[in-house]
Amino acid sequence: MKDAAAILRERARSGVALGLFTTYRVGGPADLFLEIHGPADLDLACRAVAATGVPVLVIGRGSNLLIADAGFRGLAVKLGDAFAAVDVSGTDVRAGGAAALPVLARRTAAGALTGLEWAVGVPGSVGGAVRMNAGGHGSETSRLEPRPRTSTGSRPPAAARARLARARSSGPLCSTSRAAGPPTP
Ligand SMILES: Cc1cc2nc3c(=O)[nH]c(=O)nc-3n(C[C@H](O)[C@H](O)[C@H](O)COP(=O)(O)OP(=O)(O)OC[C@H]3O[C@@H](n4cnc5c(N)ncnc54)[C@H](O)[C@@H]3O)c2cc1C
Repeated sequence: MKDAAAILRERARSGVALGLFTTYRVGGPADLFLEIHGPADLDLACRAVAATGVPVLVIGRGSNLLIADAGFRGLAVKLGDAFAAVDVSGTDVRAGGAAALPVLARRTAAGALTGLEWAVGVPGSVGGAVRMNAGGHGSETSRLEPRPRTSTGSRPPAAARARLARARSSGPLCSTSRAAGPPTP
């Protein structure tokens, strides 16, 4: 932990209560917490993890996370507003990992695209949806084409259908996601 803290230096905070970032508002602190404001922070976090092997917990909008009272022994990261953009260009949709699903649903509907209507009622982020394979009303994230991928190119794990994620080390970070939707008839 000390080695990771030495790499992250003043960018990381210690003792941040993670429950504040979740729907349930319960749970203890992380040893280290880093809000990622842009590519430089992303790069810094990757370097700290690669060099030290510190366990990482990615926090989205916290709507499917239950943090233990004891907190998280490792580095908790959260994407900031720089990763919340949604760009709709024709049938091409690009959304940051921190973009809110209801915003994505409204923006695609306004662009006369179908396929993400279910997301309007899901209080999560795009990154959380990719990780958890969020869905509803017979649709799910993994059915989008092209399939949303994480920054390391991997697909959401099959086990991601569980409705509650425990605060343990995360899979790869999803910073952006891209899909193309058919226009409404
Ligand atoms: C009132 C309510 C209604 C809901 N309705 C639905 C529903 O209709 N359908 C449905 O599928 N779910 C539903 N959910 C569950 C939840 O909203 C979804 O699972 C959502 O996808 C979680 O996203 P999040 O950003 O909140 O993720 P979090 O809860 O923050 O995290 C969940 C998991 O995703 C990982 N994660 C988060 N962001 C990233 C990222 N950027 N990169 C990599 N991993 C990441 C976390 O590490 C964790 O493992 C509901 C939840 C609530 C509270």
